[in-house]
Amino acid sequence: MKFAGEAGAWQAAKSTFAYFIICGFIRPLGFAGPTGIFPSPEFPLSVLPGAFYFAGQQMALKLFNTLTHSIQEFTPLDPAGKKVGMYCCGPTVYDFAHIGNWRTFVFADLVRRTLEFNDYQVTHVMNITDVEDKIIKRVHEQQTSLREFTGKFETAFLDDLKTLGCKEPHVKPRATGHIPEIILLIEKLVARGIAYRAPDGSVYFSIEKYRGCGCQYGQLLKLNFDELRPGERVASDEYDKESVADFALWKARTPEDGSVFWPSPFGDGRPGWHIECSAMSMKALGETFDLHLGGEDLKFPHHEDEIAQSEGATGKPFVKHWLHGAHLLVEGKKMSKSLGNFFTLRDLLARGFSGREVRYLLLSAHYRETFNFTLDGLQGAKTAMARIDECVGKLRGIAKDHAAAPEPKLVSAFAKALADDLNVSAAWGEVFKGVSETNRRIAENSLSETAAAAELGAWEQVDSVLGIGRKPEAGAPPEITLLAEERIAAKKAKDFKRADAIRAEVKGKGWLIEDTTKGFQLKKL
Ligand SMILES: [Zn+2]
Repeated sequence: MKFAGEAGAWQAAKSTFAYFIICGFIRPLGFAGPTGIFPSPEFPLSVLPGAFYFAGQQMALKLFNTLTHSIQEFTPLDPAGKKVGMYCCGPTVYDFAHIGNWRTFVFADLVRRTLEFNDYQVTHVMNITDVEDKIIKRVHEQQTSLREFTGKFETAFLDDLKTLGCKEPHVKPRATGHIPEIILLIEKLVARGIAYRAPDGSVYFSIEKYRGCGCQYGQLLKLNFDELRPGERVASDEYDKESVADFALWKARTPEDGSVFWPSPFGDGRPGWHIECSAMSMKALGETFDLHLGGEDLKFPHHEDEIAQSEGATGKPFVKHWLHGAHLLVEGKKMSKSLGNFFTLRDLLARGFSGREVRYLLLSAHYRETFNFTLDGLQGAKTAMARIDECVGKLRGIAKDHAAAPEPKLVSAFAKALADDLNVSAAWGEVFKGVSETNRRIAENSLSETAAAAELGAWEQVDSVLGIGRKPEAGAPPEITLLAEERIAAKKAKDFKRADAIRAEVKGKGWLIEDTTKGFQLKKL
């Protein structure tokens, strides 16, 4: 069976939990085998919905699972094989996200779009970390309120997400909106003896107690405890992997926290970063869900801690598939402000690049490869986009208003590349092969209106995953804009006859004036 690798790893995960029950402090688990919540490895692929079907061929989506350290066929937990719960660690809103962060979010968008292309119903959850060490420091420095400070960076983040053509996550929970859920989760861990209150008043997760009950800490990294320093306690959210340490779940209030604290059964304080993601992901997607994504820098300690807290509290496997995106270098070096190679999306837009060009470049390399992001590469993205835009523009010109079923050759080859652990390089290769072929047929004048419509249909299917979209309309010529402004003046003067005449004149010149709350908008007819 193709599932052999997956079965072994998943069975191993299950046996961990069988031992957990023996420890006797967790409620019964209910692994029910083939008919229970986890699909059987023996479940025949042929009846699994959601596999790629093209030209009578069936392609299962294969992804590298960090949990099992292997490439596996993706199968959702939903017995109907339809619904997929996907969580991606979101931004910590204390500054504008940089291009390294954006690589992860564009990668998450690619995963979601690939699943949707594959006919899955995805619930995409991305948290907003709006309380954390760095945020509190800056709130204090800028003498502002937490909400005011984080609100502006949250808005900027969502605007940038749109500029990059990413679909907005269905659920965007804020940590500060989930304090009761976080407290409840910590209470469970305390009741089960895995968390304890330290002399500093904070509540910590005990790695030793967790491991003592047969649970495995370090499932993603396969940590070797013999080589690690014994656990010390860490209050900070980020810590070095040389020392696996008890980490803070609830941080007791300190004078530096100012007004940022909440009452709790453990005293006034605030949540640690790691517990936020456990509480919010399980609230939105249930105690066990399909996919958890993030940048590889989050594997340790953040994701290991998420697993330990969640599985420690529920006694159930937390996530079935873990996907991690690799690092990004800029101009061959680690990004840093002192090297002058630190870019936010806004820095790149200010240099004249568009969101779709940045998206293209971020999507040009495999998600598990370290990617070298360069300004030359962005110039290359501009050329590549122009080549696609020109070809699609010509197709539209030939197809006019003809309709046809999408041409299956490109879609099938593209789907096959993506099904192979999201091999985007090969997928783009198919797209550009298609562009060359189409250009050849256009040059030969051998492309009928229907054939052009079929190729356009194929491009639209492919673009539902790539998310490049149409080339933005060029702005209206100045004379048209002037006329539109004149019309607004006429309307203000209540000269509606003149206003209507101008609208008609503009329409005659191929532009439509649309009134908006901010004035008007011009659309090419
Ligand atoms: Zn997280």
